[in-house]
Amino acid sequence: MSRFFSAAVSDLDPYTPGEQPRGQNYIKLNTNESPFPPSPRVVEALTEEESRGLRLYSDPTCKDLVDAIAGYYGLQSGQVLAGNGSDENLAFAFRAFCGPERGVAFADITYGFYKVWARLWGIPARVIPLREDFTLHVDDYMDLHEHIVIANPNAPTGIPIPSSDIRRLLERDSERLVMVDEAYVDFGGESCVPLLAEYGNLLVVQTMSKSRSLAGARVGFALGSKELIADLNRVKYGFNPYNINRLSILAGKAAMEDRAYFEKCTGEIRRIRRWTEGELKSLGFTVLPSVSNFLFAASNRMEGGALYRALKKRGILVRWFDAPRINPFVRITVGAQEDMETLIRTLRELLEV
Ligand SMILES: *Cc1c(COP(=O)(O)O)cnc(C)c1O
Repeated sequence: MSRFFSAAVSDLDPYTPGEQPRGQNYIKLNTNESPFPPSPRVVEALTEEESRGLRLYSDPTCKDLVDAIAGYYGLQSGQVLAGNGSDENLAFAFRAFCGPERGVAFADITYGFYKVWARLWGIPARVIPLREDFTLHVDDYMDLHEHIVIANPNAPTGIPIPSSDIRRLLERDSERLVMVDEAYVDFGGESCVPLLAEYGNLLVVQTMSKSRSLAGARVGFALGSKELIADLNRVKYGFNPYNINRLSILAGKAAMEDRAYFEKCTGEIRRIRRWTEGELKSLGFTVLPSVSNFLFAASNRMEGGALYRALKKRGILVRWFDAPRINPFVRITVGAQEDMETLIRTLRELLEV
């Protein structure tokens, strides 16, 4: 740390991204990327001429992208904010809506970035433990004063929360915002987007990184009332008006418009998830009931850290969190069928089952 690092952020414990190895040829099952390329329409949209257009700033309103997202969900364009990944949307939302007067509450086991943004923006955070079986009960949040952020399905467990439960939370206190991070909802969860018509205290955040194969383009979006989205725009224009680059605006729009390709890819992931889950269980793993594009699994023969290291040595990257309650588990992204077959074969050798 340099002597210039501000005391205001000196105790920041930043987010640790999953490994992104360069060169070495791993089977990469550690950061929940899609094994499939983006839609062919995305590739077509990124023409040479558009690359030459990079001399110009991007559209600060991201109109083409926002209109495509609004059209997809049957919302008005004023209800959509596009972000440089959903991480940016979430960071803006924390900044816009939370503060010393009203903090933020989230689960002990959930997306690791929530506590980082709370610290970065000086927002008091309340951590609510998941139940013994790693499920989230909205009853544990009912009477909190804090705004609430919930990943649904949760990460890294993959376990869903019924939207009827989220509805109960929204009903309870209309002055309290519920931010639902639906990064994985397209793989089988129940989206809260239909609830937007009824509740002004709901913000839904989604990403094109996972279900639309665009992790490297950095495109996410937030959906909410026009008032909430206008507030998010106030923060965006107070920070980085041209937040999405020209090529990613085109890529995101094209991905959103190719519904058939999206459905094919997410359907395929669900099928491979079911197959992999069955195989893992037959090898003695405990597998949490995931509706996302990853499985959270613990072996009855090897602890999580050892398993992570042994797989890495054999060319397979998974994610291991050295944290209380979840360190027996590894999080395995659902990849291509042949990669999952290699994983299962490798595990069988490793665990000698
Ligand atoms: C991947 C992920 C994000 C961030 O996605 P980007 O759009 O790539 O920034 C947000 N929330 C959860 C729960 C995630 O897993």
